[in-house]
This record gives sequence, C-alpha cells and structure tokens, in this order.
Amino acid sequence: LAKGAGRGQWRRYEATLHAAVLQRLELRAALDRAAADQDFTLEYQPIVEMASGRTVGFEALVRWRHPALGLVPPDEFIDIAEETGLIEAIGDFVLRQAVGAASQWSKQNGAQQDGTQKDRAQPYVSVNVSARQFRSPGFVTKVRQELADAGLPPSALMLEITERLLLRDDEQVWHDLTCLREHGVRIAIDDFGTGFSSLSYLRQVPIDVLKIDKSFTATVASSARQQAIVDGIVRLAQTLQLDAVAEGIETAADRDLLCDLNCPYGQGFLYSKPLRLDDAVEWLRFENDATGAEIAAISSRP
Ligand code: C2E
Ligand code: MG
Ligand code: MG
Ligand code: MG
Repeated sequence: LAKGAGRGQWRRYEATLHAAVLQRLELRAALDRAAADQDFTLEYQPIVEMASGRTVGFEALVRWRHPALGLVPPDEFIDIAEETGLIEAIGDFVLRQAVGAASQWSKQNGAQQDGTQKDRAQPYVSVNVSARQFRSPGFVTKVRQELADAGLPPSALMLEITERLLLRDDEQVWHDLTCLREHGVRIAIDDFGTGFSSLSYLRQVPIDVLKIDKSFTATVASSARQQAIVDGIVRLAQTLQLDAVAEGIETAADRDLLCDLNCPYGQGFLYSKPLRLDDAVEWLRFENDATGAEIAAISSRP
C-alpha cells in the first residue's frame, strides 16, 4: 500500500482482500462437491499434421460444469485442485473419459474400413497431467489399467507434463516416466519454453514430444527474432528425435511460417476450437470420408 494512502483506501483494499479470500473459500467448497459428483466434462481439440492437414490426435481439455456459472475453464480451478489434492479425483475422471473417447475413435476407424482399407493410424488422445497427479501413488498402474480395460494400445495415449515436474531431480518421477514409455505411452512436455530455463533435463529425460507454447506461436509472424526462437525449438526437437507440436495456431500466417520452419504438427483455433465428443466424432467421420486433396484444400496452405 502506497505510503500516505488514506484510511479509506486501506479499507477498500481490505474489503477487496476479504472478498477474494471468501471467493476462494467458496470456490474450494464448490470444487469439493464437484469432484465428488464428477461435474466435469472434456472437450477435444484436434492435433493436425501440418503438411497434410490430417488429424493425428486430440488434446483432452477439462471443463467444470458449474450449475450457476456454466462451463468454467481449467485455468480458474486447476491450481486450487492442485493445492487441495482434488486434482487426483479430477485427474482420474479425466483419464477415464479421455481413454473412453480414444476407444470410441478407434472403433469408428475400424468400422470405416469396409472394403476400402484406409491406411490411417488411430487418433491418439493427449491428456494433461499435473505434477501432483503424476506423483500420486499408483498413477502408472492406473494408466495401464485404464488402457487395458478399454482394450487400447498404449500408443493411443499421450500424457502432457510440464517442465515443473522435471525441475526437482526426482528418482521416482524418472522411473515412472521410463515405465510409461517402455509400456508404449508417449510423453510430451507442455508449454515448452515457458518454464525454467535449464535445458539440462533434455539430455536424457524420457520424453517423445515438445509442445511449443502458444506464446511463441502467437508471435512467430511478428519478427525475425521470434522466428529464430521457434526455428531453434523445432531444430532442437529434430536433433533429439522428438516430435514438435505448435499450440495456439490462430492465423494462416502462423501456420505457413510454422510449415516453413518444418514444424510437423500443430493445433489451434485456425484448425478447430476444442470440440465436444460428438463433434470430435463427426470431425473424424468427415475426414475419413474426405480425400487427401479435399482435406488439404481446407486446412493446408492455399
Ligand atoms: P494447455 O495444456 O497448454 O492447453 C492449451 C490451451 O490453449 C487450452 O486452454 C486451449 O483451449 C487453448 N487454445 C487452443 N487453441 C488455441 C488458440 O488457437 N489460441 C489460444 N489463445 N488458445 C488456444 P484451456 O482448455 O482453457 O486449458 C488451459 C490449461 O488448463 C491447459 O493448457 C492445461 O494446462 C490445463 N488443463 C486443461 N485440462 C486439464 C486437465 O484435464 N488436467 C490438468 N491437470 N490440466 C488441464
Ligand atoms: Mg496441454
Ligand atoms: Mg500448452
Ligand atoms: Mg498451459
């Protein structure tokens, strides 16, 4: 509070603080009930092979179905869920739903193979996993069990972790990542480039994919300097034999530049916003019916 600020101003500040604390407590209580009742839903955003425009997978994104507020975006509750531990229950729900969705896409692709065998890999589902959820006991077993119950190959699942999980030199995390990968589940680093500047973990961390944060994608068209950064990340990925996925592609200019920089995969509002499961199914049906040229005409460069 600024020196010399009046008493009235302090009062106002105190009132705001009080309201914020109350709001947080209310949010916590409501989230607690929501976790018990599983009042959440997932949306699925297509991840596209940039050169062909084909969907290779979907990222699962959780929303809280709040009775009064409607669909609450994750940025407004994931932090509290982490603090309170509710993330474990929410995460279990997300994992189960996401694996269920992947299983539906897999059946859909199978059903389409009537005579004209389409040589297409099964779309994977990519699930965000918070640090606390990843560290919770039995996480690896749970993942394997969900896949087995759904009869899905582990390659149908990707887990998105953040650099924060790798910050501490944690043997258990390392061991679990290795186990998951040996099983065939792919691991992505989400929001790559925004976390901690130490790249030393990349020397040997067991991962498969770098997701280039949307703050880089959003600015790639603005200057040579921004392009150099994205170019650097894509090359780093190539050299380490990791796949790069650019997030937050909003304009044709972003897409064209990322293609020029040889970024293999992308997602963003230009291709599609996150979709309800029904719409994701419809999206795949459309792609399965369309020819490569038709898809390229819609989603590739003009
Ligand atoms: P994220 O994993 O980096 O997800 C990408 C976010 O960017 C999503 O926001 C997505 O809707 C948004 N997005 C997609 N395309 C565009 C675009 O073209 N432009 C812009 N500006 N944004 C785009 P969303 O769904 O609000 O999720 C926010 C964050 O919440 C996620 O960031 C992720 O960190 C977290 N999150 C989402 N679902 C889960 C979950 O099930 N578990 C955990 N632990 N975290 C989750
Ligand atoms: Mg993500
Ligand atoms: Mg991200
Ligand atoms: Mg994020």
